[in-house]
Amino acid sequence: MKILVINCGSSSLKYQLFNMEDNSVLAKGLVERIGLESGMLKHTPQGKETVKIEENIPDHKVAVKLMLDALINKDYGVIDDLCEISAVGHRVVHGAEKFSGSVIINSDVMEVLNECIEIAPLHNPPNIIGIEAVREMLPDIPMVGVFDTAFHQTMPKYAYMYGLPYKMYEKYAIRRYGFHGTSHCFVAGEAAKILGKPLVNLKIITLHLGNGSSITAIKNGKSIDNSMGFTPLEGVVMGTRCGSIDPAIVPFIMEKEGLSPDEVNDYLNKECGVYGISGVSSDFRDLEEAADNGNERAKLALDMFAYQCKKYIGSYAAAMNGLDAIVFTGGIGENSNTVRKMICSEMDYLGISIDENKNNTTVRGKQGDISSDDAKVKTLVVPTNEELMIALDTMSLVKNA
Ligand code: ADP
Repeated sequence: MKILVINCGSSSLKYQLFNMEDNSVLAKGLVERIGLESGMLKHTPQGKETVKIEENIPDHKVAVKLMLDALINKDYGVIDDLCEISAVGHRVVHGAEKFSGSVIINSDVMEVLNECIEIAPLHNPPNIIGIEAVREMLPDIPMVGVFDTAFHQTMPKYAYMYGLPYKMYEKYAIRRYGFHGTSHCFVAGEAAKILGKPLVNLKIITLHLGNGSSITAIKNGKSIDNSMGFTPLEGVVMGTRCGSIDPAIVPFIMEKEGLSPDEVNDYLNKECGVYGISGVSSDFRDLEEAADNGNERAKLALDMFAYQCKKYIGSYAAAMNGLDAIVFTGGIGENSNTVRKMICSEMDYLGISIDENKNNTTVRGKQGDISSDDAKVKTLVVPTNEELMIALDTMSLVKNA
């Protein structure tokens, strides 16, 4: 069985084609700059050089066609015919309260996804456009939606409600949803395997740290809290997102800077975070380099990030009444020994202590235990694999259908 996994953003489309016999990736790629001046497809067949094709990509339908053509190309394709693709799995950011697991996409599901646009105006429209484009190009192939919010549907009500009048929840579904669920679920499962204990017996905090960062408390295998909220803007300070701030700051900035609701939303999502603090970059590699070279604001941005992560670990250990392991994943969590060290320093009260040598010598893309020998709480690095999770969910739903 071969399954195509698609993650569609507003101007990009990422894909991976899996061979489910051994969960291997036959090809992966990225279509960039959809709808902008000059688009680009980067396609990497397994074990071969990346092929780059530059051309005008006016919309997602053209992007999907480009991807499918690459997959069956005589020189760099990996299948002979599109009918070899058994199913397509789509990452969908926001499933609201409607989806607590992955679903086969049919017209009823599309209707609900469209309803979800109201609370996820930035995130769901590109996902829906991607689904529609694939449906048009591959009308007979089953498709599955896998939601970033689904894993967090186990949060207790007292954790997901905000201190707003109850009718805001009833009228507009305003509550915490939590995001990156596929990643948190995957790395928690892998962590349990490393620890050699059933996930249902463990208390784990997973830190998915990337351009967007979120932290989850997972008690007995279930998400009980996540740092992101109604949207992926809440939580720790991120690449360009502000994270949690006093809500009174929002109308204050709007008035002072003359911003509309849409403009302030854009501002908080795209101009803030470590980028806005440092004035250097949203990329943690650049921040670390600048801080090493004495840039005070880059150092401040890193300090803020690490401090806020620490506070979530402390509060989630309290919420779970204990902690067996913390797990680092995402571009920063997997790669930055500096950030991991900053977060884990002076955490011995909680039982967290890392071995400097192990932290510095983790192999990129590999799982690792970086705890010091006497640490009560294990600190693990686990590369995430959201695409494989989506492929596995897609396969099991399609097989059972
Ligand atoms: P996304 O949230 O878009 O999926 P990723 O999880 O791929 O992003 O994380 C991307 C981020 O990871 C980059 O912005 C960069 O800050 C960070 N990153 C990647 N490699 C390193 C590294 N070696 N050191 C520090 N940060 C890194």
